[in-house]
Amino acid sequence: MKLNRTTPLLILLTVLLAGCSGAAQPESASRELFAMDTLMSLQISGPDGQEALDAAVTELQRLDALLDRNEPDSDLSRLNAAAGSGTPVALEEATLDVLEEALLCSADSGGAFDCTIAPVMDAWGFGGSGDNYRVPGDEELAALLPLVDSSALLVDRDAGTAQLTQAHMEVDLGGIAKGYAADSLTALLAEYEVSGALLDLGSSTMAALGERPGGGAWRIALRDPADAEQRLGVLSLQDQSLSTSGSYERYFTQDGVTYHHILDPETGYPAETGILSVTVVGENAALADAWSTALFVLGEDKALELWKSRDDFDYILCCFDGRVLVTEGLEDCFAFEGDAYGYTCEILRR
Ligand code: ADP
Ligand code: MG
Repeated sequence: MKLNRTTPLLILLTVLLAGCSGAAQPESASRELFAMDTLMSLQISGPDGQEALDAAVTELQRLDALLDRNEPDSDLSRLNAAAGSGTPVALEEATLDVLEEALLCSADSGGAFDCTIAPVMDAWGFGGSGDNYRVPGDEELAALLPLVDSSALLVDRDAGTAQLTQAHMEVDLGGIAKGYAADSLTALLAEYEVSGALLDLGSSTMAALGERPGGGAWRIALRDPADAEQRLGVLSLQDQSLSTSGSYERYFTQDGVTYHHILDPETGYPAETGILSVTVVGENAALADAWSTALFVLGEDKALELWKSRDDFDYILCCFDGRVLVTEGLEDCFAFEGDAYGYTCEILRR
């Protein structure tokens, strides 16, 4: 396995955990690839494992090509380039799907998740390769914030088009695209004879389908957000997806202050809500992805309120002060190990 600085420990831990069984292993195919700006790892078991894996890789590459806003010919770039032109842009169905899901999450999160955050991401230098990090001035941010407005993103399913009604607006799907890809692969794998799959789309987004080789739920280690060498615990998942948003994923430090890449669309600044990381678990991976970003922005109290009002996700929220809050749906499948590092675990009930 090729390891580099960004290779998440999670992959390694997951593979180790998955390989512990002594039972006969069904045929299993696996591959690592770089897509959506991250190292991904797919593992698929069953008679059609290899065939399904090939199809999954092709689909991932297709989605990456559509949704990459740094690729001039992508669907997303064409949408962004036409902002304010008044001309709707014809897009692939998959692109329209993600945009619609993103809009839904925007509405449901009261704007904490907003895929039109791109101009502000760029001002911080978070949009590119990481060489241009900077702290924008207050005036610069104030001028950009009116461009963060999901209501100006119009999707017309019947016509197969979308448009941004304000000039200089841009969509960034970094907070939902990997989840959407996980859902697409899950749907694709249903067409093959597979007994299980672990789709690791960059560790922060994973889908655990069917059974792991040897039987039973997939076991996925969650890292301690404060130290990649340590883990908070292990989640046992079957036919569920998880997504983690953490301030440790992408950040820079200037004049002793650390700035990370999850932005509050209201202020344009990195969200500071006392959260180190939040992992969302649910059947729908796009939703888990978007909600992990949104809950990070919303903070502990609003996250709880939202969870109580819905039944389509659970979460594990790790606070700065060492509390790990786990919603009751995960009580039986999360084995907490953070006590070894000074964390305490609390179950949240409806
Ligand atoms: P990651 O993808 O790094 O694992 P997230 O799922 O939390 O973590 O997504 C963070 C990404 O989402 C950022 O890199 C950016 O592209 C985008 N983003 C940042 N803030 C927001 C926000 N408030 N709403 C929607 N997308 C956001
Ligand atoms: Mg997310």
